[in-house]
Amino acid sequence: MELPPGLFREALEKSNDAIMITDPQLDTPGPRILYVNRAFETMTGYAREDVLGATPRVLQGEKTEKAVLKRLKGALERGETFTGETYNYCRDGTPFLMEWSVYPVKDDSGAVTHYLATLRDVTDRRARLRRSKQLEAVNRIQREVAQGGLDLQRVREKIVETALEITNADAAAVEEAEGDELVYRAVAGRAGELLHWRLPIDESLSGLSYRRQEVLLCEDSRSDDRVRLKEGAQRIGFISGVMVPLVHEHRCYGVFKVFLATPHAFGEEDCQLLELASGVLASALFNAAAFDDEVSRRNLLVDAIPILVSYIDRDRRYQEVNAAYEKWFGISAADIRGKHLWEVLGNEAYETIRPHLDAALSGNSVSYESRIPYASGDQTVHAQYEPHILRNGEVAGAYAVVRDITTLKQAETDFLTGLFNRRKFEALAQNILKSAARYDQDVTLVLMDVDAFKSLNDRFGHLEGDAVLRSIAQRVAGTLRDADTLARWGGEEFVILAPETDAEQGVQLAERVRAAVCDEPFGDAGMVTMSLGVAQWRQGEDLFSLQDRADRALYAAKHQGRNRVVAG
Ligand code: GH3
Ligand code: MG
Ligand code: MG
Repeated sequence: MELPPGLFREALEKSNDAIMITDPQLDTPGPRILYVNRAFETMTGYAREDVLGATPRVLQGEKTEKAVLKRLKGALERGETFTGETYNYCRDGTPFLMEWSVYPVKDDSGAVTHYLATLRDVTDRRARLRRSKQLEAVNRIQREVAQGGLDLQRVREKIVETALEITNADAAAVEEAEGDELVYRAVAGRAGELLHWRLPIDESLSGLSYRRQEVLLCEDSRSDDRVRLKEGAQRIGFISGVMVPLVHEHRCYGVFKVFLATPHAFGEEDCQLLELASGVLASALFNAAAFDDEVSRRNLLVDAIPILVSYIDRDRRYQEVNAAYEKWFGISAADIRGKHLWEVLGNEAYETIRPHLDAALSGNSVSYESRIPYASGDQTVHAQYEPHILRNGEVAGAYAVVRDITTLKQAETDFLTGLFNRRKFEALAQNILKSAARYDQDVTLVLMDVDAFKSLNDRFGHLEGDAVLRSIAQRVAGTLRDADTLARWGGEEFVILAPETDAEQGVQLAERVRAAVCDEPFGDAGMVTMSLGVAQWRQGEDLFSLQDRADRALYAAKHQGRNRVVAG
């Protein structure tokens, strides 16, 4: 059935696609427009009277790609259909991305009588597509950068690596402000050699981006007025590039930039993408930097104290040590990390602490005081080990805190026997008497003196005498309760203060002590005896009066023939 001729025209007018019909004239000035539909008017803003008789060139402009037009002409000359995409311009000058097809209409003889073109504005579609690609890229960046965790340098490196991936740049750098300079803190690609490079903020394009907190596109550094250090830019192969400020919560951390040694290598799209990514990058950097600060601050604390702080793994190697180790052992902390304890402490010292460490690595909290034979000399330490127990109950290692208390101990203890000295004894005794006074408890003091020690020294020598004094100290200590306080009073004299002990119990205690000392020979020196004086504290009495009474009892014991206990 024949359709009425007006129907085709009506159909063209109703079409949502813009349609244009031209004559077949391909030579300059080109085909003339014979018809455009209403959709064309809406899309371009031109009324049909404006364009009828003109060529499609009225729609073209700066962004219209010559290469695409050339391809169009070629296709039409060969009598083929053409499909392509480029920018055209509305009447008001707004560019739009146009996807269009041109069909040659032929007569019966095959000669081209007209061209029929359909035109579609794909700006929005393309923008959406680009946007979703960008979001995808940003998403990837976020994941990548998250892998850097809180390690500041790794985050920086991830940033430059991903910058290279998402643009066609072959060099990327993160520059951070330090004083009035920007310092290259991470580099990738061809920028590899620029690490630690510095540029004055006031003179570099990155500096401008940093100061203005603005993305800057440089099409050609050789002709860009904003580039002051042109030679420098060329030397590092910066001909075109994009500078993006790393801004987080209104603070600018620095700039990251991508660049290439060819001009016009980047466009709006690169700028947009990098700007989108910069927020993610900046916040990752800020977090890592804040963490880094926190760690440095803590390290500062841990390193400042003259106490050894370390983490020992279950292979008994130092994983972490503070700066005090460097001073103590004269080895750098970096050299200590990873070393086995015996390598650092020396075998003898290691063997001394080993039982304590064993206990800690079995999951116990350990605290001890010990004289440690370090290679550099003996030192008395107070050490505390805390096991590091994993969630599954396994012990991964132990934290150790070790304090040198040698001087403290020297002030409190007697060098020969290791017992408290008289000064420390008197301080402790004052407290014991105070508490006895408050709770109305018995306390008894026992003073003892080795008999005829002078002649023992004379017969066996002073060194043997020393050995006997050490053994006596051990034997006496072995007979006492924890609550009793034993000290070397001076020379060959010792003292015991026994709380919750009356005179009678004090005499029993003294007899036990005497037996412990006198019943067994001391090697070559043979049998040794001692005399003891016992005095029970009286409410209200001071320490010196108590000592005096015990001393009198001791004197009485000597007087009565020695090797005996006398209560005063
Ligand atoms: P007694 O108490 O029974 O009256 O006779 P003694 O010989 O023990 O009396 P004296 O107080 O006269 O002598 C004490 C001796 O102890 C004198 C001193 O050389 C010796 N002595 C004191 N301190 C030490 C020491 O640290 N090492 C050694 N080897 N001898 C010491
Ligand atoms: Mg004496
Ligand atoms: Mg004596």
